[in-house]
Amino acid sequence: ATPVGLLAGSGRGAQLGILIRGPQVLEDTRAVDTLVLDKTGTVTTGRLAVDAVDPAPGRDAAEILSMAGAVESASEHPIAQAIAASALKAPGPVAAPPRVDEFGSAPGGGVVGIVDRKAVVVGRLSWLHENGVEVSESLRELFTSREDSGATAVWVAIDGRAAGIVSLRDTVKPGSAAAVERLKALGLRPVLLTGDNSAVAARVAAEVGIAPSDVFAGVSPEGKVDAVRRLQAQGSRVAMAGDGVNDAAALAQADLGIAMGSGTDVAREAADLTVMADDLGQVALAIELSRATLRIIK
Ligand code: ADP
Ligand code: MG
Repeated sequence: ATPVGLLAGSGRGAQLGILIRGPQVLEDTRAVDTLVLDKTGTVTTGRLAVDAVDPAPGRDAAEILSMAGAVESASEHPIAQAIAASALKAPGPVAAPPRVDEFGSAPGGGVVGIVDRKAVVVGRLSWLHENGVEVSESLRELFTSREDSGATAVWVAIDGRAAGIVSLRDTVKPGSAAAVERLKALGLRPVLLTGDNSAVAARVAAEVGIAPSDVFAGVSPEGKVDAVRRLQAQGSRVAMAGDGVNDAAALAQADLGIAMGSGTDVAREAADLTVMADDLGQVALAIELSRATLRIIK
């Protein structure tokens, strides 16, 4: 399904790049009091950059980046795009990414595939465990120190053994802090919900003005649904803004699902409202418009 209605009878919403699924959405938009925000790609640019590759003892950083990059080239996740791009840019004999067989992925977990007859797993620790990979204590410490420095770190395993860690950095979108300010002025409570680690989540929340007690990190896609449900059970009318495959179920669960236009088709299909511009300011504008419009109708 595609969004059918246009926010505001005048078509002003469409002109502004705000699409709604039907007239009821206007009322839902007006009524929300809590806005759950996905971090990666919604509050932040989602354009990450690789800033460190740490090989496990006996491994080579270039090999890790190239193997991880090959598997990630089949995924549309922002982490995947950053690792794939970085692998292609790396100096060395590799002109094209090596071919990948038996690709698989888990939203909010990671990717897996066969490269050069070796099984390569990239993602979070629970995803490595699901794929039968164990991790040494010393590598875990290194991983934690990368995360504590504010990076988003992912594991790379080759042939069933942890082979290294890739650390990436994400930046807050220029308009996000001002948009959160506007949302608060509208009386909304902003909540940050992310699959990423708590150090990164805390840094981003501080940068945009979300209270530390309203930050939920390390949350799986199902965990995002639960978080929305819990807020609803507390009596909140919940809007959720997101862009990823991992956000779709939570967008559907929310009283108002909002998709960022630059996001995935899956997110747009699950949402009630889509903002075409890649900016949280449009979300604030949608809520402002819905309230102004209903004042005119009443
Ligand atoms: P967010 O909620 O911030 O958009 P996701 O739910 O998409 O994050 O991902 C949560 C975590 O799962 C990531 O921080 C990463 O550790 C892991 N992950 C998800 N997809 C991938 C991937 N394609 N490659 C590596 N790691 C991934
Ligand atoms: Mg996202």
